[in-house]
Amino acid sequence: MKQKYLHLTTFGCQMNVHDSEQMAELLKRSGYEATNDVKKAGLIIINTCCIREKAEQKAYSALGRLKKLKLNKPDIIIGIGGCLAQQLGAKLLKKAPYVDMVFGTHNIHLLPEMIEYIETTGSRILETGFHESVRSLGIPTLSLNSRVSAYVTVMQGCNNFCAYCVVPYVRGREESRELTDIINEVTTLADQGVKEVTLLGQNVNSYGKTISGHPGFSVLLKEVGKIKGIERIRFMTSHPKDLSDDIIRLFPQIDELCECIHLPVQSGSDHVLKRMKRRYTSQDYLDKVAGLREVCPDISITSDIIVGFPGETEDDFKKTIDLMEKVRFDGLFSFKYSEREGTEAVKFDDKVKEDVKKRRLREVQSLQKKHTLEKNKTLEGKTEYILVEGISKKCRDDVMGRTRSNKIVNFMGGVNLIGKTVTARITKTYLHSLRGELVCKEVEKC
Ligand code: SF4
Repeated sequence: MKQKYLHLTTFGCQMNVHDSEQMAELLKRSGYEATNDVKKAGLIIINTCCIREKAEQKAYSALGRLKKLKLNKPDIIIGIGGCLAQQLGAKLLKKAPYVDMVFGTHNIHLLPEMIEYIETTGSRILETGFHESVRSLGIPTLSLNSRVSAYVTVMQGCNNFCAYCVVPYVRGREESRELTDIINEVTTLADQGVKEVTLLGQNVNSYGKTISGHPGFSVLLKEVGKIKGIERIRFMTSHPKDLSDDIIRLFPQIDELCECIHLPVQSGSDHVLKRMKRRYTSQDYLDKVAGLREVCPDISITSDIIVGFPGETEDDFKKTIDLMEKVRFDGLFSFKYSEREGTEAVKFDDKVKEDVKKRRLREVQSLQKKHTLEKNKTLEGKTEYILVEGISKKCRDDVMGRTRSNKIVNFMGGVNLIGKTVTARITKTYLHSLRGELVCKEVEKC
C-alpha cells in the first residue's frame, strides 16, 4: 500500500500543541506518517488559534499559501482545526473554497471518519459541534519533542468569561475528564517510558468542580503522584482565584510535584483586573505568591501580562510594574491587548493607543529580562536534578534536560543519558537556558 503523509502545522498554546499531538497519533493509526515536507503530503492540517491576534494572522498566512498547492495538486486533503475553525465554521469553508474540512476543538476524535468521508464522497465537511467532547481528550501521546515527557488533558473549556478572552466561546464550558480515565492514560504513558506529565486544562485548579461529588484537583494530583514510573508532575494553567490553600500545601507533600507554577496575573491594577473580570485583586495575587513561597521557597513562578487593556492609565500600568518588582517572576509571557471578536472588552470605548501599548510592552519585557537573568544567576554553582530529554539543539555533543523548576540545561553527555534523571552543576546562566556539567548519572547511587 502506498505510504500516506501528513503535514501538520500548529499555532497557539500548549493545549493546541497537545491537540496536534493527538491528531498526529490518531492519524498514525490510520496509516499516516508525519512529514515536514508540505509538497510530499496528501493530508495537510492547520491547527489554528484565535486567542491572540498574532497567532490568528499566522494561521491566515499559512492558509493562503495552501491555495496554490491545491490548484496544482487537487487530490490533497486540506483540513483546518482549532479555535479559529471553531469560531468561523461555515464562514471559513466559504472564505477558502480549497479547504476540504473544517473541524472544531471538540471533534479531534472524528478526524479519521471525516477523512474517510472526504475520500469516498469527494464532499467537503464541517464539524464544529460540542457533543461528546471529552472523547477527544483521551488519546495517550508522547510529546512531539520528547520521549520522556507528555501532556495529559484533564479538563477543557472555561466558565470564567474574562472580558478579553474567547476561550469560553471556542473551547466551550468547563468539562472535566473522569479521574479513572486520566489515571489509566498516565499509567499507559508511564508503561511506555514517560517520566514526566504535564496536566493540562484552561483552568486546572477547577478540575471536577462543575460535577457534584467529583474529586477535585488536589485528589487528582495525589493519585497521579502514586503512579509507578512517574517522577515529575507539572500542571497548567492555574487561575489565581481557584488556586486553593489545599493545592498550595501539596507542593512539599507530593515528591513528584515539581517546584514551578504558571500563574497568570494579567495586570497589577485592581481597576484593570475588575474590568477584565478576573475576580481577584493584586493583593490577593501577592498573597497566593507568598503562600507558595512559604511552603516552597525556591518555587519558580511564571505569569502572563496584558498591557494596554481598554482604560489602562499610566497609573494602572505603573501598578503592573510595581507588582512585577514585588514578585520577580522567573519568566513571563507578555502581550499587547488585542481585540477578540465576541468578547465583552470589544464594547469598551476607552481603547489605548497602539504606540502607548508598544511602549508599555517594551518596558515590561525589558524589566522581565532583568528579572529572569537575576533569577537564573542565583542557580550558578548549584547542583540540580535534570531529567534528560534529548540531544541539545545547539551542539550534538550535548544533551538537554530540565530542572524541576522547568529551566532548560545543556551539558556534555551521551544519548545513553536520555530518559534518565541525573544531577548537574550549573556553571553559566543565560536568558533562555542554563549551562551545566554532569555530576552524577545514576542519581539513586550518588
Ligand atoms: S480564565 Fe479567563 S483567560 Fe483563562 S481561559 Fe478562562 S476566560 Fe480565558
